[in-house]
Amino acid sequence: MKLCRFIFAVVFLTFFGCSHSGTREPSRDMASMANPPEFVRGRGLCAPMQERPDRKLIIHHIDVGMGDSTFIRTPDGVTILIDGGLPGQGRDAILPLLRNCYRVDALDYVVLTHFDQDHMGGLTDVIASMPIRRAIYDPGEAMSTKGDGPMSPYTKFRAMTLLQMGKRRVPMPGANNFPETQVRIEVIAINGRLANGVQLPILTPQGTPRDDNAISMAIKITYGDFNYFIGGDLTGGGQRKPDVETAVGRLVGDVDVMHVNHHGSGTSSNVDFIRSLQAETAVISVAEGGMNARYLLPHNEVLDRYDDAPFVERVFLTSRGEGRIKRGLLKPKEIVLFGDILILAEPNRYQVNGLYFRTDGR
Ligand SMILES: [Zn+2]
Repeated sequence: MKLCRFIFAVVFLTFFGCSHSGTREPSRDMASMANPPEFVRGRGLCAPMQERPDRKLIIHHIDVGMGDSTFIRTPDGVTILIDGGLPGQGRDAILPLLRNCYRVDALDYVVLTHFDQDHMGGLTDVIASMPIRRAIYDPGEAMSTKGDGPMSPYTKFRAMTLLQMGKRRVPMPGANNFPETQVRIEVIAINGRLANGVQLPILTPQGTPRDDNAISMAIKITYGDFNYFIGGDLTGGGQRKPDVETAVGRLVGDVDVMHVNHHGSGTSSNVDFIRSLQAETAVISVAEGGMNARYLLPHNEVLDRYDDAPFVERVFLTSRGEGRIKRGLLKPKEIVLFGDILILAEPNRYQVNGLYFRTDGR
């Protein structure tokens, strides 16, 4: 069985691997990690080409170092980019992937979960380089507290969205914001406003955010029995941050795969939220070194919360991060893929970097 999986992984890499990420350095300690050999390493990973007809939903977590960037292509061909990593990542990682791997030279949607640099920075180059056909969804002008000096990342982002005339919009939670696809893509929350109409108390009386992360857009994607959650840096109440996660978790319910909020920070991933989602597979986008030397993500107590949850079967990371895994304290559920984490979903099963899992049917 093991050998079988390994052969599958080699075949997958041979057909789907491509070197879109020529600017990225290979990880130094790849060989020292005690990971199962059957998973395809994330570096340079590439899903089947656009012209190859298939029924798979592609969810490609791009390794942008510190930050998030996730490319989605629905089986009916709608393309969405959620977040763009730090400034420079658009040019270095995202655009080469979109062009070389997926033959994408225009996107249907760009989604910015919130205005932090490690989500917004790289989107500026993407929006400057290709047409956005349908919409650029973000929390809106009133929610930006990031400064509007002439060279600020927010100013650059806003300027680039103006070039895509009239496309910038704040999505309505609960509305059909992605009508071109048969796949169900729901905005569960944005700016503390939930899909059931409730407004959580995360705004000041002036309508500005009390916390920049708490406004993050939270999205659930459903394709047959497969479901997935992504929510930027949504907060869960740790260190006296607003708790948006608990209410969002109740609306999202059971999923198969979840993108872990805020790179595994202790201010997110509260126990109630993890329990609501019941995810078998968790994905953490996080860097080793750089800015993260200051934040030390993923936080050990968050890794342990996922490890302790009986329904969580595996936690994939784009890198070792700066917590206990870097010090060699890797637990059996934790798998470092050293690069991109690629989910290819079908209505009743999905693969992660070449290895298949069944959905739980809920
Ligand atoms: Zn972030």
